[in-house]
Amino acid sequence: MSGWRCDGVTFAYPESARPAISELSLQIPAGACTAVLGPNGSGKSTLLRLLLGTLAPAAGRIELDDRPLGAWSRDELARQVGVVPQGEEAVFPMTVREMVTMGRYPHLGPWRRAGDADRRAVDDAMRRCDVHTMAARDIGTLSGGERQRARVARALAQQAPTLALDEPTAALDVAHEMAIFELLRDLGHAGKTVLLITHNLNLAARYADRLVLLDGGRLAAEGTPAQVLTRETVERVYGWPVEIVPHPGPGPDAGAPQVVPLSGEQCGRMERGHAA
Ligand code: ADP
Ligand code: MG
Repeated sequence: MSGWRCDGVTFAYPESARPAISELSLQIPAGACTAVLGPNGSGKSTLLRLLLGTLAPAAGRIELDDRPLGAWSRDELARQVGVVPQGEEAVFPMTVREMVTMGRYPHLGPWRRAGDADRRAVDDAMRRCDVHTMAARDIGTLSGGERQRARVARALAQQAPTLALDEPTAALDVAHEMAIFELLRDLGHAGKTVLLITHNLNLAARYADRLVLLDGGRLAAEGTPAQVLTRETVERVYGWPVEIVPHPGPGPDAGAPQVVPLSGEQCGRMERGHAA
């Protein structure tokens, strides 16, 4: 199966009492957008580092496109997977165009300079992320949201078959967040393997084909948005009372489950259980 596959993966950081990932088995298939959800500290970023080979599991197997992760060379993986890591990297003085062009580096050997095809990939990625008008700006002068979009553009410019993004829409306004979700859905439907870590349950429910919900490093639920985002599961994993309502539409995602957090006064209702 193309995409990622994990079987019984366990990982603990050195000197930590409990594993960050425990006996995790799941699939991130090609041709779909999969959203990884879960509370802070539930292991989402750790899972991504394991999938990228940055961390090695203590137990279990990870495959990418039907090959054990260990059989991929560093260069092969760098070409195969476009990554948007969580949070800020150090900002060196460079323009947006230069930063997005870095997405082409895995394709450029030490002897090859960026050519027309590279420039087209960079222009296309900047346009899709709405940063083409700021191509000549220094990235140090961008707002947080603008820089975030430039980071997504850098991953897109790579034109890799697999994309992994750790909270790429944190700090984006609603229009730019929607645009990124629609873009990731389209890339998945165009055949790429798209893995997206997000806290936006409601956009994940509308735009991801599959959801993976982590809780304390374990798989709490996996499947379609309707299978994963039930009131029982969301309340148990996040520890907060919610209602689930269907998206009112219009649009193709009418009926998608939308999570409405209730006021803290309703916590008692949650503790009494869902019998009422
Ligand atoms: P998430 O991305 O879901 O917020 P993480 O994968 O970053 O969660 O973290 C999972 C758990 O592992 C947390 O308990 C966190 O404190 C711990 N952890 C993360 N990174 C490290 C690290 N470098 N060293 C030790 N513990 C870590
Ligand atoms: Mg994280």
